[in-house]
Amino acid sequence: MSFTVHGLAVSRGIAIGRAVIVASSRIDVAHYFVKADQFDTEIERLRLARNAVTEEIVRVQQSLAELGPNDAHPELAALLDVHLMLLQDEQLTAGVKQWIVERHYNAEWALTSQLEVVCRQFEEMEDPYLRERKSDLEQVVERMLRVMRGVASPVAPPLPPAPAPSPGIVAPPEPDLDIPLVLIAHDLSPADMLQFKQSVFAGFVTDVGGKTSHTAIVARSMDIPAVVGARSASHLVKQDDWVIIDGDAGLVVVDPSPVVLAEYGYKQRQGEIERERLSRLKNTPAVTLDGHRIELLANIEQPDDAVAALKAGAVGVGLFRTEFLFMGRDGKLPDEEEQYQAYRRAVDGMQGLPVTIRSVDVGADKPLDRGAGRSADDYLNPALGLRAIRWSLADPAMFLVQLRAVLRAAAHGPINLLIPMLAHASEIRQTLSLIDKAREQLDARAQVYGPVRLGAMIEVPAAALTIPLFLRHFDFLSIGTNDLIQYTLAIDRADEAVAHLYDPVHPAVLHLLASCITQARDAGKGVSVCGEMAGDISMTRLLLGLGLRSFSMHPSQILAVKQQILRSDTGKLATWAQSVLAAEDPAALMAD
Ligand code: PEP
Ligand code: MG
Repeated sequence: MSFTVHGLAVSRGIAIGRAVIVASSRIDVAHYFVKADQFDTEIERLRLARNAVTEEIVRVQQSLAELGPNDAHPELAALLDVHLMLLQDEQLTAGVKQWIVERHYNAEWALTSQLEVVCRQFEEMEDPYLRERKSDLEQVVERMLRVMRGVASPVAPPLPPAPAPSPGIVAPPEPDLDIPLVLIAHDLSPADMLQFKQSVFAGFVTDVGGKTSHTAIVARSMDIPAVVGARSASHLVKQDDWVIIDGDAGLVVVDPSPVVLAEYGYKQRQGEIERERLSRLKNTPAVTLDGHRIELLANIEQPDDAVAALKAGAVGVGLFRTEFLFMGRDGKLPDEEEQYQAYRRAVDGMQGLPVTIRSVDVGADKPLDRGAGRSADDYLNPALGLRAIRWSLADPAMFLVQLRAVLRAAAHGPINLLIPMLAHASEIRQTLSLIDKAREQLDARAQVYGPVRLGAMIEVPAAALTIPLFLRHFDFLSIGTNDLIQYTLAIDRADEAVAHLYDPVHPAVLHLLASCITQARDAGKGVSVCGEMAGDISMTRLLLGLGLRSFSMHPSQILAVKQQILRSDTGKLATWAQSVLAAEDPAALMAD
């Protein structure tokens, strides 16, 4: 039966495909595709795990039988019988094999997919006794997963684990799958999303997340349709359901009728035509009707994204989010050489155009590692905690490694070094003195390094209210509206429950933005916006009207923003922007 789930539209376009549900098991499970010649190995791994768990249960049964009648635990014996029966269940085994052979899933993924199918059947059973067997099945599968992962289990000896990517991560696919697939998950970490970047999925949906959560940002950078904050989508949608993801409206249509399918097929083709039309603007300079040249820069997450940046006609990188180099590595941070190579690749990739490298910004919704050490949940309030420059200054040795790597890469091309989340004069002083120290260390090693221009991100209201301090110490400013909005309005950007309060045109936000832009321009210093607002075409005219001349966004948005710029007259927009600034309800004027 067809139904629709509502969420937040975060990445435009339409995707139509079969649902791949990444079940949230209590054990972190690796999700990756296997080649046809690996099917037998995967099936054999399952068989071995099943046998190991069976043997262990039989051993426990035997030791129970050896106890005297007073200690016999009849309920436990009965339960073990049920577990043995479930382990041998044909539907489980046959279903798992089918996921491996037909969908190329690795053994663990196939097992959790089939677990979910069978659990749903249990849930629908009338008989309460049978319904309760669901948790038995979950326990049995969990034991098998532990055995397959090589995790010591109280009941079964571990088998050697299969070589696999880190748990929870979707790895590059087998290329010959011709069925379009869409990924549905409760949540995906930004690090998972990066892996997902190289995979086959045509779109994705998550139950949680806000519009400017980092998961959504990475989806946008991949330029594939995505909906986040779709509450219970991962429960409502079943494995293999046909699903339409409408990334423009924030809708997920499950099991659509032929009429709806045809309508969305048409929309999808229209979107492709529009993209094709926009691609013709690539070499057109971004100049307004009244002759102002606007700088369009790219936000990137990995050095290789420079290719997409150039392809979209970016005139430089305005934000390289280096934290993605630090994530999902089990706490083992990249050393100076690895970072230097990565920054150098980005510089080389941009072929002489400037690259703005932001010092690492982990914390809040960008944890270093999923499941390793403290997770975001362990912090009282991660968004207000040790993130970005606070994290770097808390570990100067680690920060110096990054600073030296950036300075060395600057010998190969123009680099701007951007510092996130600054708020205090003391943080500025410590940062500048560490940069000096990094230079001294390189001098002592007689290592070559280059000049960098220094920039401060304005993303904490305290910084936005003390702009002269930043202008005194830095060469340029970059306004991080994602965080500036989050902290000004006191709403968590990753929490879908308060997503309706995330308002880029709230008068308080607009006043901070306008005053930062004006003060920087008056001081003759560069100022750009690198938050998602810069790539939102409904905001382009307002930002131009407020005096912004430099925008940094994901490459996928550059051409659409350029189209807006080509149609704009900054003189007229400046007058209109002042009326928006003075309005009680600026949103009402935005449609004018
Ligand atoms: C911002 O806060 O606007 C920004 C660009 O940084 P990030 O989204 O990585 O926090
Ligand atoms: Mg930020």
